[in-house]
Amino acid sequence: MIYGVAHSRIVDMAPYIDIFQHYSDEVKVFSVDEEHDPDQITFALLWAPVDDFFDVYTNVKIVASIAAGVDNIMSCPSLRSDIKVCRNRDDEQAAIMSTFVIWHVLNHQRNFPLYLEQQHDKKWKRLNMRSPSDISIGVLGLGFLGERIASDLSHLGFPVCGWRKKHKDLSNPNIKVFSGKDSLPDFLNKTEVLICVLPLTNETKNILNINTFRELKPNAYLINLGRGGHLVEEDLFKALDEKTLKGASLDVFNIEPLPKSSLLWTHLNIIITPHVGSDVAANDAVKNIINELRRYHAGNALHNQVEINVGY
Ligand code: NDP
Repeated sequence: MIYGVAHSRIVDMAPYIDIFQHYSDEVKVFSVDEEHDPDQITFALLWAPVDDFFDVYTNVKIVASIAAGVDNIMSCPSLRSDIKVCRNRDDEQAAIMSTFVIWHVLNHQRNFPLYLEQQHDKKWKRLNMRSPSDISIGVLGLGFLGERIASDLSHLGFPVCGWRKKHKDLSNPNIKVFSGKDSLPDFLNKTEVLICVLPLTNETKNILNINTFRELKPNAYLINLGRGGHLVEEDLFKALDEKTLKGASLDVFNIEPLPKSSLLWTHLNIIITPHVGSDVAANDAVKNIINELRRYHAGNALHNQVEINVGY
């Protein structure tokens, strides 16, 4: 029997604990509030743990994130380097994320916000129709989610390029791949709609700054789905003021929920959503984690292990 514990400072883990009961012949997952022996716990299901979590659970060997992001686990000061951390990866999650992005891209392409304004004023006016082939897309982070987004947009007729760390040939030859820091300006120069699906690491923090925005094509639009830490908020306002950016869709923020005092809420050219770009359904998340636990206990490599020293 594998003994685990589920914990988060901000998410209710009860639905996950309930689903783990379907696998009660293999694993028993406690809530931190239930009576249990911390020394018996070798597995942890986490999202934004408390700082001293691993000081309490000294025998944890494997940690699973309920979702794709792991920055909230990587930044836990008590995390030990010998612990295996895995994230959740799921095709449905990628499909949900991709359709979310398509919604924002079409909004920009067809100027729906302006039609809403016109409707409000009962104004009948046909706006200039731009074709997908006119609007170049750049995806920052061409990993599991970014590749799906890039591929779907490419199939819709948008010219798409993507930026990643190491070069990889994609199965869709229409997507131009840029890799490494030196190629970033070339990538940005080709981009009108910039989509950020990077993980948050020391290297990617603040990457969405005024210098980045000024490299983009005219009429540029930003869609940030990575993390709030990627964006320098004051630079976004500057870029909107000087019309380097036409608008932005933001789904992730430094502080979530976004404080009511934030000026982002009321800017006319910013669309705010409450971190809903994508998610893994609890049933699928638990199924993925059970498979990882089986692989781990059979001595096999994990499918979705994160490299602790790399950060994603
Ligand atoms: P992956 O690990 O599969 O992909 C990450 C990509 O980013 C890879 O292509 C990687 O390059 C690239 N990358 C990382 N660091 C750098 C760097 N320094 N320079 C250039 N490229 C870099 O992650 P996912 O696609 O699954 O998820 C990405 C992020 O999306 C998550 O970490 C999370 O922050 C966010 N997310 C947001 C959600 C939302 O609802 N808003 C939902 C789910 C995820 P390489 O492959 O070459 O290493």
